Amino acid sequence: MTSRPNKDQQTSPSVDTAGEPKAAKGNLRKVFVRTYGCQMNVYDSERMTDVLAPEGFEATEDLNDADLVILNTCHIREKAAEKVYSELGRIRKVKEERAKSGKDMMVGVAGCVAQAEGEEISRRAPIVDLVVGPQSYHQLPGLLEKARQGKKVVETEFDIDAKFNHLSGQAEKPVLKRAPSAFLTVQEGCDKFCTFCVVPYTRGAEVSRSVQQIVEEAERMASAGVREVTLLGQNVNAYHGEAADGATWGLGRLLRRLAEIDGLDRLRYTTSHPRDMDDDLIAAHAELKSLMPYLHLPVQSGSDKILKAMNRRHTREDYFRLLDRIRAAAPDIALSGDFIVGFPGETEQDFEDTMDLIRRVEYGSAFSFKYSQRPGTPGATMDDQVPEDVKSARLAELQALISDQQKAFNASRRGMICDVLLEKTGRNPGQLVGKSPWLQPVQLDAQENLIGSIQAVEIVDIGSNSLFGRLIAGQDTFDTAGAAAAPASQAG
Ligand code: SF4
Repeated sequence: MTSRPNKDQQTSPSVDTAGEPKAAKGNLRKVFVRTYGCQMNVYDSERMTDVLAPEGFEATEDLNDADLVILNTCHIREKAAEKVYSELGRIRKVKEERAKSGKDMMVGVAGCVAQAEGEEISRRAPIVDLVVGPQSYHQLPGLLEKARQGKKVVETEFDIDAKFNHLSGQAEKPVLKRAPSAFLTVQEGCDKFCTFCVVPYTRGAEVSRSVQQIVEEAERMASAGVREVTLLGQNVNAYHGEAADGATWGLGRLLRRLAEIDGLDRLRYTTSHPRDMDDDLIAAHAELKSLMPYLHLPVQSGSDKILKAMNRRHTREDYFRLLDRIRAAAPDIALSGDFIVGFPGETEQDFEDTMDLIRRVEYGSAFSFKYSQRPGTPGATMDDQVPEDVKSARLAELQALISDQQKAFNASRRGMICDVLLEKTGRNPGQLVGKSPWLQPVQLDAQENLIGSIQAVEIVDIGSNSLFGRLIAGQDTFDTAGAAAAPASQAG
């Protein structure tokens, strides 16, 4: 499944708390990583920063200050490659400015556009020194060295095992301080081949990391102060990793193991395919207190005809039956989804079927997009492409319905007392921002030293995108009650 885009963002600088990088302090070079697209790219950007830290690079959020710029790109949007080229045009000007004061700047393009475009990038944008696909980030130091010698480097091999093994080899590396909530990739690639999606072509076949690799990384995160981990994969619930005894574990079993790690009080996963929600994973929602009551389970369309054309391999009734089972196991769960309107051949009736599905499900939130043709996918060459104005009108109608459902869901939290993981300072002095169990941002007045703690909070008001809360006790609910204790979430 495609994880849906966040705002473009820079990778937060990692803080080295336990080791000296190769270059002496004071002689550090700066790396600026701009991340586009999904959470998997956010995770990969953090890993790139980690891999570069021992080489003497520290992260900067100032492009003008960067000795190395990496664009970690996303191919999910229309004209993604063109947007990268225009960004490279802006970077060229910064590079020229720096050159006037004798400073160099190397430029790399990573991510799915790098994978899809390969050599074409350095041909069209000669300022690019390095093109590196998503499976080759562990090779960055060596690739940079080649680029430094004046070679144009293009590395787009599909060797996920090598990347995962390298990530596992980070176990001996110094622990890097992390934000209270972190991503952890457990699976990459996809074998589903939905006819609108480029992921199987840009990220390759499904590969799962071993249980041991994931547990070790989660333990390192917990010891670095992470309280909440979101397991990532393009099709995360297809996870099938090998355990130490050679057995294959599914996602449910992996979650149970991660729930045993001290300090990891919240677990999430994204993004899932309906066909891969097995009984064990559904049961985990009923059993694990630390598995948050939120599930992103895209359906894309409510029309069986369109689901078939999309090669989704399930019907709308299959989806309803599945949700019944999930809600029976976790009645409090908030559901989220993805919708594509205007897929080739979508009639008014097909669209109405989608609206009907949304009305029946009642989502807590959802992402929705107009269908756009992605080169190389079967959908791009299908007959009956839907006119742009029809797509726009349907999208507006669908988004209005989703927005109403989201407001209703948020309003239903008013008066509840729930656990909130406090993650960062807010816009106003004295304000912190945290996350509810249902993935809603919660703003409240609290002291900064509470960042990283989980607090009982009463939801007192509802904004358009956030909830507003009031601290109840001022003490970490997990410190006082123990990590295995039930969260204080309660309705009414
Ligand atoms: S092919 Fe389908 S299941 Fe796989 S990542 Fe794309 S949308 Fe998700």
